[in-house]
Amino acid sequence: MNIIKILVLICFLGLRVLAFKGFNSFQSTEFQQYNIEYFSLDKTYNIALTFDDGPGKGTEKILNLLKKYNIKATFFVLGSQVKTHAHLTNRIVSEGHLLANHSYTHPQLAKNTYRLHPELLIQELQKTHALIKPYLDHKNDYYFRAPYASWFEANAKILNQDPELRKYIGPICWDVGRKIEIYEDQFIDAADWECWDKNHRFTPKECASGYFNALDNLKGGVALMHDIHLKTADMLEILLPELIQQGYSFVTLEQIQELKKYEYETGDLIYQPQVDSIENSQYKGRCLLKNKPKIQL
Ligand SMILES: [Zn+2]
Repeated sequence: MNIIKILVLICFLGLRVLAFKGFNSFQSTEFQQYNIEYFSLDKTYNIALTFDDGPGKGTEKILNLLKKYNIKATFFVLGSQVKTHAHLTNRIVSEGHLLANHSYTHPQLAKNTYRLHPELLIQELQKTHALIKPYLDHKNDYYFRAPYASWFEANAKILNQDPELRKYIGPICWDVGRKIEIYEDQFIDAADWECWDKNHRFTPKECASGYFNALDNLKGGVALMHDIHLKTADMLEILLPELIQQGYSFVTLEQIQELKKYEYETGDLIYQPQVDSIENSQYKGRCLLKNKPKIQL
């Protein structure tokens, strides 16, 4: 008799959990005043690969590599590129990757122009949103990364007045891919766009070692790359097997628990990350990139 009572109780509790989960699906999000740059992926051996500015030259080869290693990534696309690369956009989605918004024309959104003409700011995001939304209708959350991480507090207020755009989580920063740093002849960090520019012309192998060392130093993180460069795809061909061999797993932004804090039920207080006063005074409309890899090779 007691066992039956216990079973009934377990079933009842199970139903309560399901009901609670259902209730939680009415979530809401908002643009943040500052770039989001704490992801808590360090020491987890999880890496979120994020590709900006495409779809472009390198996208096809990158998609082939991700498929080969069964890795899912996040693509912050430009609306202007989506329009001319519909086939690649389709492929990104149909192969299980997350499509995210990176504006329409890649402007510096911290410029005064956007505070004086808020309609231009809304347009930048709305035009890309209209293009990617048909692919994202089954998703709960949308993600945005500001070009150059250029962002001012006022932008959040302007965009959150739009009932559709306020469903975004962002702007999203990154941990690794900030800039080239060399210490005692070893790359301890790298940024793909900088590796390939005319002042550096580093090889995919050199650049891959910068990404590897930075990610391995933190033991996980959000990595920024650009799928508009074919050399970035060449670099990934070297980097991915090395990371896999070291035991790293790969996640999309949707799988990052820390970002779930930006979801809230209507009526709840909005999660505000802790930004101390010193950081605040240093804030110049950029990522602070505090979670910097330490030199310890
Ligand atoms: Zn960009």
